[in-house]
Amino acid sequence: MAHGAIAAAIVREGDLDETLFMIKPDAVLGHKAGAILAEAERAGFEILDLRLVRLAPRDARRFYAVHEGKPFLDELVEFMSSGPAIPCRLRRENAVQALRDLIGATDPKDAKPGTIRARFAESKGRNAVHASDSTESARTEIEFFFGDGSARR
Ligand code: UDP
Ligand code: MG
Repeated sequence: MAHGAIAAAIVREGDLDETLFMIKPDAVLGHKAGAILAEAERAGFEILDLRLVRLAPRDARRFYAVHEGKPFLDELVEFMSSGPAIPCRLRRENAVQALRDLIGATDPKDAKPGTIRARFAESKGRNAVHASDSTESARTEIEFFFGDGSARR
């Protein structure tokens, strides 16, 4: 194998990582969870773990702590605690960016055709899914739902 090919193979293997995906209450209550998970699997994501949760408002606020002070936070917290959600621990090559690409822009009006939000989101607020925006957030968010300190026990 040429040196470049070996290097490429190493890079590819190093790129296999995890991200936090969450199907939001609008999509779960709209019976779209199965179709959305199928999209993720079709895009090459492996489901390492998942659960169905009903977030208490204080936990929704803690999950979205990065948005403290934003005008939409109260509404977001109310929405995220209004019904069941399905956080999922997903693995794939380049998982964080690949999942952001798959879900599309925050507002479905701006999301590219074929993306999950273009297909399943109702509005900018009720937008069907969440995906971690960086490797660092992925680590924190996976810990939030699936770590030892989670409400899972
Ligand atoms: N959101 C909203 N109004 C806004 C911006 C965001 O209701 O103007 C909600 C929306 O549900 C979004 C979430 O807050 O998914 C988190 O916002 P962020 O900017 O992190 O968007 P995302 O990373 O989910 O695309
Ligand atoms: Mg975000």
